[in-house]
Amino acid sequence: MQLFKPLETDKGEDKSDCKTTEKICCLIIGSGPAGYTAAIYAARANLKPVLYTGLQQGGQLTITTDVENFPGYPEGVSGPEMMEDLRKQAEKFGTDVRFGIATSSDFSGKPLKVTFDGTAEIVADVIIIATGATAKFLGIPAEKKYAGMGVSACATCDGFFYRGKDVAVVGGGDTACEEASYLANLCSKVYMIVRRDVFRASKPMQHRVMTAPNIEILWKCQLDDLFGTNGVEGAVVVREKGTPEEEKFNIKIDGLFLAVGHTPNSDIFKPWVETGETGYIITEPGSTCTRVPGVFAAGDVMDYVYRQAVTAAASGCKAAIDAERYLTEML
Ligand code: NDP
Repeated sequence: MQLFKPLETDKGEDKSDCKTTEKICCLIIGSGPAGYTAAIYAARANLKPVLYTGLQQGGQLTITTDVENFPGYPEGVSGPEMMEDLRKQAEKFGTDVRFGIATSSDFSGKPLKVTFDGTAEIVADVIIIATGATAKFLGIPAEKKYAGMGVSACATCDGFFYRGKDVAVVGGGDTACEEASYLANLCSKVYMIVRRDVFRASKPMQHRVMTAPNIEILWKCQLDDLFGTNGVEGAVVVREKGTPEEEKFNIKIDGLFLAVGHTPNSDIFKPWVETGETGYIITEPGSTCTRVPGVFAAGDVMDYVYRQAVTAAASGCKAAIDAERYLTEML
């Protein structure tokens, strides 16, 4: 049943600033599990979605190895393969998937506008922001060298591969404590490399790691380097860096987990939608609605708590349903 009539695509030329302008019904920005799931639902609801992938097509899962915790894959699946399957599924129902990076937005009135690559302006009735978050890195060469070979930014995704082994977590916030607690249940030993002599994490999280028998906290320490022939075999840690007491020492580890924060990819929407202190888009409780009618947010750009492929996919589904209901009410 067709609930409403989507706008016809109407390509035009905005000669004043050399932008092309295209009018569509439903714009989805981002190609992680949230974006593609929103696209599957929106396409099946006849919203004729156009999805822009962003720079990292497939999102954060394309840089993980095996995904073993997404329901429906008893043998596990590689991150890139799963994202390819999601893309195909979205396209099967008619999603127009395009490569492009959102460079500016204008939600000051209707219609809603987003510009891609500085040149293509999309004018839409509804917009689903599913731009995800980017894990922060320390910026040392070893992180790149051992990416996918012992360095990870997600314990829930990759911790299983280090069962019975020794690992280290860098960071002292809630994420680091949560990752360390999770890993402590799987690994023999977990080091926490904390750059100050205090945690940033909340008190209950601090308590959890400080009382775990197999977590050792290395206070006032920073990661200097990693070593190993076929993957990570150890880390060089520096204590009290830049002081007369500075000392370097090695720890034997098989995996390193970075938990020094994530940056939600919300910058270009900040003038319009509400964001929290750390940049995550705030949605109405129990829905994906932002404070701008017709603009919805899904996945890691609005969720700093769960950050899983399956929860991102679920919120993408919710965003498409919220968008469809919004359009129905508008008619
Ligand atoms: P945070 O920004 O809170 O913490 C980052 C941690 O990494 C800090 O300890 C920081 O040290 C350290 N750090 C940053 N840069 C470096 C660096 N270059 N070298 C070494 N250490 C570094 O990020 P989180 O991801 O932990 O949390 C983000 C938000 O999400 C927070 O508001 C948090 O409360 C929330 N959250 C909530 C959860 C929940 O409710 N279950 C779970 C996870 C997160 P320093 O303290 O010295 O700056």
